[in-house]
This record gives sequence, structure tokens and C-alpha cells, in this order.
Amino acid sequence: MLILLTNDDGIHSAGLQALAGQLQSFGRIVTVAPDRERSAIGHALTLHAPLRAEEITKDHWAVSGTPTDAVSLAIGGLLKEKPDLVISGINKGGNMGDDLTYSGTVAAAMEATLMGVPAIAVSLAGQSFKFDDFANAAKIAKQLAATVLEHGLPADTFLNINVPDRKPLGIRLTRQGKRIYEDVVVENRDPRGRSYYWLGTGNLDFQNLEGTDFHAVQHGYVSVTPLHLDLTNYAAMERLRQWQLEASPLDLDDAGSSS
Ligand code: MN
Repeated sequence: MLILLTNDDGIHSAGLQALAGQLQSFGRIVTVAPDRERSAIGHALTLHAPLRAEEITKDHWAVSGTPTDAVSLAIGGLLKEKPDLVISGINKGGNMGDDLTYSGTVAAAMEATLMGVPAIAVSLAGQSFKFDDFANAAKIAKQLAATVLEHGLPADTFLNINVPDRKPLGIRLTRQGKRIYEDVVVENRDPRGRSYYWLGTGNLDFQNLEGTDFHAVQHGYVSVTPLHLDLTNYAAMERLRQWQLEASPLDLDDAGSSS
């Protein structure tokens, strides 16, 4: 068994180390992760700069790129065989609802899925990040990894797992919830009197909907959401058909030209 671990908090993060510790009994565990924190980098891929990979200790690689770079480089180059599973995490902070599109943790699992390798993303919700919470989350990751390896995942699907920061009550199968963003941009002055801005400082809330990832974690459960990469809104497609777009002639005349 070969398992690839990665994350977006960087190679030295406590979550990654807790995960690696729990999984030793599975077989060969190879870690390929960004050499520094790359949270909120999304699915970014480095195409216009060289990547460096340093094997810090055996099977423990620090990559100079993004989480997506790390997975791509590991599966396409550093590993001589395809891993049986990719686990991304354990992220310092939940990855739920609309936040998924920003998440480097989730994007790494996405990249593995694109490369045909089963993947799960694991995040520790809350803000305290105590050692015991990472240890709990790592045990849950181990249990769910074993389940995935036993059953296999549906095609083009990966799991997004969020663990509450207290002893979990059980597992809930969930759908992606909905964030309420309060877009607060904080403006301040640097010592030279120039303005600078800080994003993401608003009060983060979510719609309290039963069956969602947020709801499960808030009530003390581990949230397991199956995700896929097809962003098509099939219900909207039905409505858009009424626009008769495909029957519309194209208007390619230059604007303002008289005819
Ligand atoms: Mn992170």
C-alpha cells in the first residue's frame, strides 16, 4: 500500500504530522507538501517558474510550489508508482460551504481525483487547534481512509471531511453548505503613510441548514461530503434553454458603426 500525504499549511504543520503518525501501519507513507504555508491558494498551478523538491528525510518532500503542484509533481514524477490514496490535511481550520473554492487543502484532493487517484481532504474546524484535536482528527482520517480503500470511491468523486474541535459524536453524510460573507476590507496606514488593505477579517457566519457540512460540525459531528469537479448547474440549464441561445443569430457587427 502506498499513500501520499499533502496539505496547504506546509510540510511542518502539526496536522500533517499527526496524520502521518496515525497512518504508519497502512504501508509506505510518502509526504509531498509545500515548503511553507499556502492556505487559500485554491487550485493554483505553477506554470511559469521552476519547481524545487527537497527530500528532507526519507519519503518526506518539501516542494517550492502550491498543494496542486505537490500532488502533480508527486504522482507524475517523484513517486515511481501511482498511490492507492491521497490524503490532504489535516488542515488548520474547517473547509466547508463556499470556502471550498479557496481551499488549497481541497484543491490537492481535487488534483489527485483529476489524475485518477482516490482522495480525501481532512480539515479540523474551529480555532483552537489543540494537539488532542489533531490527534482525534488523525484517527478519524485513518478510519475513513480504511473505509475508502475497502469500498473504493464513485468515479470522479472525492471526500471532503471536516472534524469538530472536540470529541466527535459520530459521522454525518452532508452536502456543501452556504457561507454568509461579510465583506469587510480593513484599510490602514503603513509607517510611511501609504494605505494598505487587509481582506478576510469580517465576521464569518453560515446559513444554519440541516444536512449541511456546517450544521453537522456545529452539532459536534464529523462531516463527510462527496464532491465532484463538474460545476455545471443542471437545473439552471433547463431555464437557460428557454432563452433559445442556440437559435439566436450572432451579432458580430462593430458597436457604433452605422449600417
Ligand atoms: Mn490551510
